[in-house]
Amino acid sequence: MSLLPVLKLRLDQPTDVIDLGYLDNLRGIQDEADLIRIGAMTPHAVVASSDVVRNKIPALAKLAGSIGDPLIRNRGTIGGSIANNDPSADYPSAVLALNATVHTNRRSIAADDFFLGMFETALENGELILEVTFPVPKRAGYGRFPNPASRYPLVGVFVAETQEGPRVSVTGAAPCVFRFAEMEWALAKNFDEIAIREIRISPDNLQSDLHGTPEYRARLITTMARRAVVETVTAAKA
Ligand SMILES: Cc1cc2nc3c(=O)[nH]c(=O)nc-3n(C[C@H](O)[C@H](O)[C@H](O)COP(=O)(O)OP(=O)(O)OC[C@H]3O[C@@H](n4cnc5c(N)ncnc54)[C@H](O)[C@@H]3O)c2cc1C
Repeated sequence: MSLLPVLKLRLDQPTDVIDLGYLDNLRGIQDEADLIRIGAMTPHAVVASSDVVRNKIPALAKLAGSIGDPLIRNRGTIGGSIANNDPSADYPSAVLALNATVHTNRRSIAADDFFLGMFETALENGELILEVTFPVPKRAGYGRFPNPASRYPLVGVFVAETQEGPRVSVTGAAPCVFRFAEMEWALAKNFDEIAIREIRISPDNLQSDLHGTPEYRARLITTMARRAVVETVTAAKA
């Protein structure tokens, strides 16, 4: 879904293009008690409708179901999304907040070490993502403000209460997905929306484009984080 536009726009001109579509062992979802294993070639629609994901990490299923439109969800894959690391992509926020691990044909990479910058990851030339493993959190939620035209999030905030404590990640607002430490500390003391209501990020390093100023994005981060926390509480009671 992203590679072909890149080729058409001549942003990259590789000598060879390899179709991973026939590698069935890169596709599928496995339930391993406190872990969910998702193959790199698994389309967003499969993650969104998976009973395993919906039961164990409903926020991840919701995120996958909110990506683009049905065509994008049927063709786009989790491996392609995180390898591409578009600053506005949804999945990187879940991978980072859920403290997932990216497994390649060479090594396993912790989420904190994977996303390096705009369209940049820790992947080396020729390195192939095989699967992503997500530890099941105590609870998680995702707040997303979609651009009405592209449906990419102008800002998306994924909040997870992991076994090691709260993790908050932000996509869409900066050149690369990032964790918001101040909110994580506040939620560690009190995992409630009220704890982060007054926390504002500095707009200094946020994106500015025709869709929103850095100040607008900064406000959206607080609002989307609050929504995500409210959602986690609701999910835990359900
Ligand atoms: C119109 C449109 C709207 C979209 N809206 C959204 C949205 O709202 N939210 C969102 O998050 N995303 C959105 N997307 C992105 C989409 O969801 C796909 O995830 C993304 O385009 C990647 O597509 P793909 O899986 O086909 O990967 P490709 O396009 O095939 O590959 C993308 C890059 O990843 C590399 N790659 C692919 N698989 C692997 C692997 N297993 N190992 C290593 N490298 C790999 C490729 O070499 C390439 O560099 C949108 C895309 C389009 C075109």
